[in-house]
Amino acid sequence: MREDTIFAPASAVGGAVAVIRISGPDAARVARLLSADVTKTPRELRFVRVRDGAETVDDGMAVYLPAPRTYTGEPMAEIHCHGGSCTVQRVLALLSGCGFRPAEAGEFTRRAFVNGKMDLSQAEAVMDVVNAAAQQSLRAAVAQLNGSVSRAVGEVESLLLDALSGIDAALDYPDEAETDAYAALPEQLKAAQERIARLLAEGRRGRVLRDGLRVVLLGRPNVGKSSLLNALLGSERAIVTGQAGTTRDVLDERAVFDGVPVRLFDTAGIREAQDEAERIGVSRAREALARADVLLVVLDGAAPLAAEDAALLAETAGRPRILVRNKCDLPAADMELPEAALPVSARTGAGLDALRTAILALAAPQQDAGDPCVTNERHLRALDCALASIRAAQAAAELDCAATDLRAALRHLGTITGTDVDERVIDRIFANFCVGK
Ligand code: GDP
Repeated sequence: MREDTIFAPASAVGGAVAVIRISGPDAARVARLLSADVTKTPRELRFVRVRDGAETVDDGMAVYLPAPRTYTGEPMAEIHCHGGSCTVQRVLALLSGCGFRPAEAGEFTRRAFVNGKMDLSQAEAVMDVVNAAAQQSLRAAVAQLNGSVSRAVGEVESLLLDALSGIDAALDYPDEAETDAYAALPEQLKAAQERIARLLAEGRRGRVLRDGLRVVLLGRPNVGKSSLLNALLGSERAIVTGQAGTTRDVLDERAVFDGVPVRLFDTAGIREAQDEAERIGVSRAREALARADVLLVVLDGAAPLAAEDAALLAETAGRPRILVRNKCDLPAADMELPEAALPVSARTGAGLDALRTAILALAAPQQDAGDPCVTNERHLRALDCALASIRAAQAAAELDCAATDLRAALRHLGTITGTDVDERVIDRIFANFCVGK
């Protein structure tokens, strides 16, 4: 247990009520400031006056939570006082006077991790829950907070540990018929490999839930990309003019389609740049294109197919794309397209719902609820490394080489739950938290 006792407001500034959290070995000292000794009635939220000597600073409520059944695993207390900044400042000053110190970013959760109340993946989920931008992202974050990632990683770890102990037995007693465990090795490694591969596949779904489905609008100037983007967003974000080449940069806007977060990228188009600003825009467009989940190839449905359109169709063939015939409010031009195109009008809004549905149908992740879902980039990288180590073990000619690979795989998995992780990684993770968490 750490020596110092920390405090921080846990609620946002400006609310009607402020919740101030205290955690550490001396948390019980908070009773000095209160009109009732809350340490005598643990886990009971009581009406109290907060006092500075003889002066009443505020009326509120307070609770004392003895260790170890608390968020941090340490003795904790909470004061609920009025939310005005003068009141909060005064109460915080009184807590400093008790010998407590202000908490650092994420320090409560960090203590929970250090004291074994949660593993690292769960601690990271705390942030994801708070920052979730859509209901599906929230669901994945809550599952992770409840240990879905930890359990999935634990299953793979136990497969690998079984495999390792089989190898160790075979190495220790090479002459004995201890080959049962050893014979199971290929099966065990295959099971571990498949499990990780599945987690990685689900991870793509997780990434979408966290970061949004990446939808890139492509098309030659004036086909109506900016208008379409605005129509899909329902607001005026991009600059729309009748002149070619006004969208100089890649715009990145966020929307939610049917519970799925979506990022819409409007590009300056893939065309020869006229000046420096456009050149930068074009290179960013190519980058957005490379990372897209869905490409919307926007065509001017009222104009014949131009050479630029044909080049774009050729360039995006084989990618997940939707051909969009914009300006369907105008008389349609004849055009030959490699596949059916969706008629829409950014001007009237016709066809937009069908377009949203088509985007989700093409790329939205399957909703197999309840499955563990690794959504965190750091976890996915660790799974990738673990998978590579398991593949190396499968290919190893010697048993002791295989054992070394499996130990490496276990170390990679350990970075996810935090059993085997560099202090600097932990610092970086908690530095992203806010104070009071
Ligand atoms: P971008 O260069 O591809 O981004 O195209 P803009 O969104 O700037 O649109 C170019 C021109 O086409 C503007 O004058 C828009 O008002 C017009 N436009 C865009 N969408 C439609 C549409 O659905 N119907 C009609 N009639 N005009 C449109």
